[in-house]
Amino acid sequence: MTAPLLRVAKLAVRYGDLVGVADVSLTVPQGAVVALLGSNGAGKTTTLNAIAGLVAPAGGTVVWRDRDITGKPAYAIVSTGLALAPEGWRLFVQQTVEQNLRLGATVLPDKKRVPALLERVFTLFPRLAERRRQRAGTLSGGERQMLATGRALMSDPKLLMLDEPSLGLAPAVVESMYDTLGRLRREGLTLLLAEQAVELALEVADYAYVLQTGRTVLEGPGAQLADDKDVQRIYLGLETETR
Ligand code: ATP
Repeated sequence: MTAPLLRVAKLAVRYGDLVGVADVSLTVPQGAVVALLGSNGAGKTTTLNAIAGLVAPAGGTVVWRDRDITGKPAYAIVSTGLALAPEGWRLFVQQTVEQNLRLGATVLPDKKRVPALLERVFTLFPRLAERRRQRAGTLSGGERQMLATGRALMSDPKLLMLDEPSLGLAPAVVESMYDTLGRLRREGLTLLLAEQAVELALEVADYAYVLQTGRTVLEGPGAQLADDKDVQRIYLGLETETR
């Protein structure tokens, strides 16, 4: 068995006196798609941001490829192959699509790789190629999600974290985004996916963790959680049919 790429243990994050996450543990094996589920405010974004070095943990550990990266700054973490397509996209709206993508490659030591990585992103998202000279601020929500994902891919990550890639997007756009994630996975990329769209996430996830008020309360293979209606009702707030 290969060692997990990422191990998070007893992660805690505070925002002043408020608790962002209290106790989150998860493991991401090489080549897997792992989903982080939970309703609004459960702590999904805080967990991904803490792994990516965007917020400082108050406790717990983040171990990435056998190195303790807990509390390291974001630029140091992304340069080790761990990238995040964040909630709200955080694009530079006055810059063009291509400029935003190039910013994702800032951490690459070998800049000669940039053209090939750019081509890869344009192959995955032909819409971005069409819009490469357009300002990011003029893009639709779906295109912004593509751009945030493409920018993360420009650092050539081993593990891509996506924070709610389906949020606010039309169903056809979501489907196309998930097709692309499937393709990336087949190419060998490991994915950690925060989603409120539980059914969608469980369709693609090998393994899933459920967060509730900042704690991992449940975990299991994606297919198993997808079949467990009680789990969905209790932890994820989904309606189930009653007879
Ligand atoms: P959402 O889907 O709404 O983003 P989430 O599962 O990602 O939800 P978080 O955004 O991580 O949840 O929020 C976890 C908890 O931390 C919530 O109680 C939230 O109100 C709080 N929180 C998040 N960001 C901040 C912040 N910058 N300052 C204070 N509290 C915050």
